[in-house]
Amino acid sequence: MDADILITNTLLLPDPGNSTLIQSGCVAIDGGTIIYAGPMEQYGDRRAKRVLDGRGMLTMPGLVNLHGHAPMTLFRGLADDLELADWLSNHIFPAEADHVNPEMVYWCSTLAAAEMILSGTTTTADGYFLETEVAHAYADAGLRAVAAQGIIDFPAPGVPDPKDNVEAAASFLDAWQGKNPLIKPALFAHSPYTCANTTLQRAKDLAREYNVQLYIHVAETEQEIAMIKEPLGPTPIQHLQALGILDTQTICVHCTWADDNDMDILAGQGSPVILCPQSNLKLASGMADLPLMLAKGVRVGLGTDGCASNNSLDMFREMDVCAKVQKLHKLDPVAVPAKKILAMATTDGAFLSGFPGHTGVLAAGQPADIILLDLQQPHLTPFHTSDLLVYAAGGSDVRTVIINGRLVLEQGRLLTINIKETLNRVRAMAIAVQ
Ligand SMILES: [Zn+2]
Repeated sequence: MDADILITNTLLLPDPGNSTLIQSGCVAIDGGTIIYAGPMEQYGDRRAKRVLDGRGMLTMPGLVNLHGHAPMTLFRGLADDLELADWLSNHIFPAEADHVNPEMVYWCSTLAAAEMILSGTTTTADGYFLETEVAHAYADAGLRAVAAQGIIDFPAPGVPDPKDNVEAAASFLDAWQGKNPLIKPALFAHSPYTCANTTLQRAKDLAREYNVQLYIHVAETEQEIAMIKEPLGPTPIQHLQALGILDTQTICVHCTWADDNDMDILAGQGSPVILCPQSNLKLASGMADLPLMLAKGVRVGLGTDGCASNNSLDMFREMDVCAKVQKLHKLDPVAVPAKKILAMATTDGAFLSGFPGHTGVLAAGQPADIILLDLQQPHLTPFHTSDLLVYAAGGSDVRTVIINGRLVLEQGRLLTINIKETLNRVRAMAIAVQ
């Protein structure tokens, strides 16, 4: 069989979790699927419609950013160096009330898609309001995405009366379920302190009815349990457990303050945790005990959070910070090895995203989500091990990106996004924000 795309003569990292490198590798793609990934000499002399020369490049699975709020690119750098409650109540919520509309959501999400593709992210999970515009932006960009409609007990963009928040989410699921293989609709309940107990239960009932994921910010700050109106347990995670909403499809974002019991509950229910270490550092929320979570069998992925609290969507930065801050937090240089952090951002994250197939490894039969990094640079020389991807590489090292077999970035050039128009539109909107 002739391949559609053949990547040749590349340093190949097919499974970031085990860090084995193949010196002269190749990857063959047919349609959206990998048909071969391995040593070049074993592929034989088969032809391809398109050959990408991988000399001097590293080829690996794309990165998976499992938590973001794409439209918040508009608020990047708008209100830095504040406490979470002040930042949310006095800056972010008012800015959202004034400036979030369908056009803003579409273009700011397109900007987020550009930033993520340029820095090697091929799958993301997003949660926001007017999420249908995020989904359109990501579909147009060719980015693989879980798009989760926001639910909150305040008037929100597109849902002026919070009584309608779950119904609006149901309409979103109706509109997107089964529509596009790269867009998986889901729900995003903002937090246990902005959603009443009945709202959380109705949201989970809806998620179960449609068999979709429910994302929620939880245990982000030490003060959170005191902010919950009717707490049903001593911690936010035990509150969610008492509400009966934790299961494998409830994705708990942050869990910075998850205690020993909380982690046992999360492991027992199979509820994944998404860590956003840079957001937690910048807002000084605290730091999750990642080694303990992993030891207890909690499934953990990595995300950037919205870029207003980061302020970057570059997953290479996130991996580096996550690895180093855990070492400092535990005063232990072997707290979490780079190999595990890389797996969290690729294979583990891909599994948690819930897309069919396994986008986190390069293997025959799996979806073709692939990135190529330029190794011909001082900071990536020599390239002894894949640990360098965590400790030295950056998003700007990514040259080529393939998602579901489609080239979306080639030699640094975005093929699915008009970046000039996107930058101009977001800059024009930013003037009104200041
Ligand atoms: Zn968030």
